[in-house]
Amino acid sequence: MTSERRKGTDLRSPQDGVLMSDPVWEYRSLKREIDGAIAGVLERGLLDWGPEVPAFEEAFARWSGVAYAVGFNSGMAALKVALKALGVGPGDEVITVPNSDISTTSAIHHVGAKSVWVDVERDTMTMDPVLVEEAITERTKALLPVHLYGHPADMKAICELASKYRLFVIEDACLAVGASIDGRPVGRWGDVGCFSHAPSKHLGACGSAGTAVTDDESLAERMRLLAGYGESRQRKTCDGKAGQSQHYVAEGFNERMDELQASILSVKLSRLGEWVAARRANAGAYSDAFRATGIRLPIERPGCRHTYRNYIIRVSRRERTQRALADAGIASGQVYVPPLHLQPVYRRLGHKRGAYPVTEEACATLLSVPVGPHVSPAQRKLVIRTLARLEA
Ligand SMILES: *Cc1c(COP(=O)(O)O)cnc(C)c1O
Repeated sequence: MTSERRKGTDLRSPQDGVLMSDPVWEYRSLKREIDGAIAGVLERGLLDWGPEVPAFEEAFARWSGVAYAVGFNSGMAALKVALKALGVGPGDEVITVPNSDISTTSAIHHVGAKSVWVDVERDTMTMDPVLVEEAITERTKALLPVHLYGHPADMKAICELASKYRLFVIEDACLAVGASIDGRPVGRWGDVGCFSHAPSKHLGACGSAGTAVTDDESLAERMRLLAGYGESRQRKTCDGKAGQSQHYVAEGFNERMDELQASILSVKLSRLGEWVAARRANAGAYSDAFRATGIRLPIERPGCRHTYRNYIIRVSRRERTQRALADAGIASGQVYVPPLHLQPVYRRLGHKRGAYPVTEEACATLLSVPVGPHVSPAQRKLVIRTLARLEA
């Protein structure tokens, strides 16, 4: 069948085996459109402050079911500027989790605030609201939950705490495009939600990019301002008014999304729904096949939609499993291992092994296996056969 051929085998990266993510497959799936988008930007010559970033922002906001989206040059920049735009800074505490990308915590430190880690829930490995309430002090300014691996954190409980103690909520949704709770998308529960378009994420740029979403118009405007030197975008996208004087109203960063990435992301956005569905189908097939084995499976809480940036299993002998997968040509990964409190950079914070037991236990056993839309039916079977034999 040529269409399966074209969709699968012919498009995959020349690299052998089952990859964790396959940017070549993504490119070849949309080659004509991506080439056209890039050429369009280059031919127009508007490489800065052009129409592509606003167009992508509008399309992504619509896709995500939020009012406003703001383009950044990375997910980390989105987190940092979101915190800054909410006025989080020196003297403030922000509660987050130690099992995440380092950006989650370093963004807090980069605005001068103090990070406070809490442990996670056993089943979803996301922020434990009970521990959050215990960690709140009069200095707490914001909560920063992470929708880890694509599964939403318990936003109902977290948002209740936020309104009880008058705290901001910034959602780290960098791994969770398309996820939702009771049909309400992640990124829409808190004041602002941040997404990453690192190449290996659901909606990957050909380089680095990120987006923040919010329903608050003035917050969106402030994030745009801070991401672009502290001058309003209106004045920059000057349509013929080039040469006018500068007008800085804040001390900002240069953390904007660029025109080329925006043009590529707009093309890829047209496939995002399909690609998320493919992830969920692969994950469903894995879980069906592994239910009878000794493998601990990821869960999807009632009402939650998990979008599986990572399909995370828990195995007792991880090194042996990874070796056997590698022998069968299957990539696998340890994601955010070891956790942040045990990383050299945060030794200065003085947290010892044992400080976050649920996180530590998860990090000692978890394994991420390929689940992306590039994984063909035959590859999926190979992953299932290899793991089921190993962990029977
Ligand atoms: C990828 C990621 C980030 C950072 O995004 P970048 O685009 O790489 O800067 C932040 N938090 C989480 C949970 C991530 O997975």
